[in-house]
Amino acid sequence: MKAAVFHKPGDISVDTVDDPRILHPGDVILKVTSTAICGSDLHILSGGVPQTTDLIMGHEFMGIVEEVGSGVTKLKRGDRVVVPFPIACGSCFFCTHGASPHCENSNYEHYGPEGNLTDKKGGALYGYTDLYGGYSGGQAEYVRVPYADISPRVVPDNLTDEQALFLTDIFPTGWSAIDWAQLKGGEVVAIFGSGPVGLMAQKAAWLNGASRVIAIDVVDYRLEKAKAVNNVETLNPNNVDVVEAIRQKTGGRGADVCVDAVGFEPDRSFMDRVKSAVNFEVGSMKVLDMCFEAVRRAGTVSIVGVYGSPYDNFPLFRMFDKGITVKQGQAPVLNYIDHLIELVRDGKVVLDDIISHTLPLTEAAKGYEIFQKKQDDCTKVVLKPGL
Ligand code: NAD
Ligand code: ZN
Repeated sequence: MKAAVFHKPGDISVDTVDDPRILHPGDVILKVTSTAICGSDLHILSGGVPQTTDLIMGHEFMGIVEEVGSGVTKLKRGDRVVVPFPIACGSCFFCTHGASPHCENSNYEHYGPEGNLTDKKGGALYGYTDLYGGYSGGQAEYVRVPYADISPRVVPDNLTDEQALFLTDIFPTGWSAIDWAQLKGGEVVAIFGSGPVGLMAQKAAWLNGASRVIAIDVVDYRLEKAKAVNNVETLNPNNVDVVEAIRQKTGGRGADVCVDAVGFEPDRSFMDRVKSAVNFEVGSMKVLDMCFEAVRRAGTVSIVGVYGSPYDNFPLFRMFDKGITVKQGQAPVLNYIDHLIELVRDGKVVLDDIISHTLPLTEAAKGYEIFQKKQDDCTKVVLKPGL
């Protein structure tokens, strides 16, 4: 089959690779119909999240069940499903405590039993490096889905692939960022980063009762997109003092919630980021600093942007003094997916309006390039193996 394969930083190509096989009774093989490139994939492409061997990329995918393992009871051949990006067994401590991205059994296949005993080996994700289980991803014609009775959800017939695809990751991720802040209604929510995750967090903020949603990005076309699809206010740190502007918009108090939907910057090398972190230069920490400054006292900072390096000078004093609640991590998609499918099915939210490019899978490398370099007003790339 054809698949988008990571070889080394800067090098992802579409190769012919072996078809996946059922390895365990709980597996299904999915024929992928649509898959997307995520900002998280850019961290692998840039080398920020390290991978030393070839890897089939992709954790945002959906498709048709092609082959069913003997132990699978809930899915049958021909079912059309979306697959949440964390691989979850459904029965371990973390899966039964609402923390499926930390599933203890998902790494078992890769590391063996001893892998379960060490905190260093947390949960596994599709196509997200050996650090996260070494599983092949879904930017491919076919993908193996383990624990198939647990995470995949059958897509309502009235939804197109494009309407459903972002239930795999970015809509639940944007939703988590807002859910973690437990809005009561009427809040001001400032969302840093207006890429796909930021755009989804903006939608989630409105759906959860925010009265004002402010999008912040350094790229103007992404702010234009946010205005067009989500009717938000926008700020570009290149033009204004964002912290000051947010304070002015909130009577000096600050935003109730700040979301970091940027993470470490995809276009900087790992060593640059480490240096910047250690020396506390303006760099990857800038967004977090802005979040801690722009949030009101006793407010919440939600960090869904991915961070992959340590750093000193974390603004602990400001966080303590202001009594800030911080929540972060991989989104616990399973906690939300059934509710979010209903919102999409019932037309309460539109997700496909963020797609800027739909390409055949064979053009994945081009998709990565335009998404990474922000060319051609790219906001989200969907790849179709069937095109
Ligand atoms: P993206 O790279 O397209 O979006 C990031 C946006 O941040 C871009 O529009 C960029 O212009 C903007 N940006 C960069 N520097 C900025 C700055 N200083 N101030 C304001 N904006 C700035 O990627 P995405 O797909 O939207 O993903 C965003 C982040 O979310 C990534 O770090 C990704 O890894 C992470 N992510 C996390 C989860 C999770 O479960 N926590 C899931 C998906 C993605
Ligand atoms: Zn993703």
